[in-house]
Amino acid sequence: MMPRRKTRQVTVGDDRVGRIAIGGDARVSVQSMTAGFTYDIDACVAEINKLAAAGADVVRVAVPQRRDTEALKEILPRVSVPIVADVHFHFQRALEAIEAGVHKIRLNPGNLNDRNEVGEVIDACKERGLPIRVGVNEGSIIERKDMQKRKQELGKFFSDQKHGHLLAIMIAKLEEYLDIFHAKDFHDIVISAKSIDPQLVIAAYTEISKRFDYPLHLGVTHAGPKETGCIRSVVPLGHLLASGIGDTIRISYANDPVYEVEDGIEMLTILGLRERKGAELIACPACGRIQVDLFTLTQQVRKKLAEEIVLPIKVAVMGCVVNGPGEAEGADVAIFAGNQCGIIYVQGERVANVPEDEILDALLDECKKFQARVERGEAKLGDKVVDIVPPDPLGELGSGFDKIARGEVEQVTPLTMGDE
Ligand code: SF4
Repeated sequence: MMPRRKTRQVTVGDDRVGRIAIGGDARVSVQSMTAGFTYDIDACVAEINKLAAAGADVVRVAVPQRRDTEALKEILPRVSVPIVADVHFHFQRALEAIEAGVHKIRLNPGNLNDRNEVGEVIDACKERGLPIRVGVNEGSIIERKDMQKRKQELGKFFSDQKHGHLLAIMIAKLEEYLDIFHAKDFHDIVISAKSIDPQLVIAAYTEISKRFDYPLHLGVTHAGPKETGCIRSVVPLGHLLASGIGDTIRISYANDPVYEVEDGIEMLTILGLRERKGAELIACPACGRIQVDLFTLTQQVRKKLAEEIVLPIKVAVMGCVVNGPGEAEGADVAIFAGNQCGIIYVQGERVANVPEDEILDALLDECKKFQARVERGEAKLGDKVVDIVPPDPLGELGSGFDKIARGEVEQVTPLTMGDE
């Protein structure tokens, strides 16, 4: 992991819902967006609260119509996270949303008619101390109204080196947009530069991070269904975050946005940018050695852990004892399946051997007992780990550790920024 890039910081929220800092030394925040109609007030409130309960730090809502911004007045007092109004085409919606008390505006200046409209929104935000996210999404930077021009631009893009032309347009447009904000001495800005193409996302944010010190909102636009959108999103976002780039994220799926929040938080946790809340489950992929229904068991364990375990206990579900102990290294609680049975270990100590149909309950019971011991100060997470010698010795090849101990492995120096 590279050190986080230093940026300015903006703050979203108020006394009632709390304030989320974006950029600077603030932790990377997770955002999502409601999928329902904002004017459907009860449903919108329920969706926002569901996303907040899942861990969203900030929630965005679309306000395409007057009735949406009208609804905001009733929605805002009933939610507990900062709300961003997503504005396209109609600058009046931004002004109405600001008047209603929204906490941030998402604006794509390219979608507004002229600088004056953008200027009015900037003035209103400045007066209330609200930040603005300035977006230069790939889809909206190409002139929509002039199809001939659009074709020409895209033609150049495709005949040019990968993304070169499109990237140049994105940067040029962003500079043009920022000039409007700078002319009004407005700097409470977050920048986004989304694309459906992960490589362009990486290239665009990397380039923008070199040129501007505003915090960056990372995302892949219209990433698709969760099943494939996850890979499409996490690969570029993970790459950027590991490179120290990115201050707030939104993963977007054509699915319930709660998944966006869950996957965003998991990505940040895995990258070490968040402390884990709740249990961490590792599980083997199963193979021809398996003698229990491991896939069903793993899903059942995952659900139960999410419901009943609050501490970051590391739990391993392993299909057998051949590679299981090595792969479960570091687990506080582990189950190794055998012939339609399961052997349970808690911090290296064998505590149970149960038939297959009792594994789930027995494992959960041990997790809860271990959690209680940790809470009473009688045990420590990650203190003692599963340490079992596999029944099948490693043989004459030995393990990698043997080689290291014999000094036969060359010292590996991690690459640092600037190394090729
Ligand atoms: S733990 Fe056992 S069953 Fe699971 S993948 Fe490894 S060898 Fe196969």
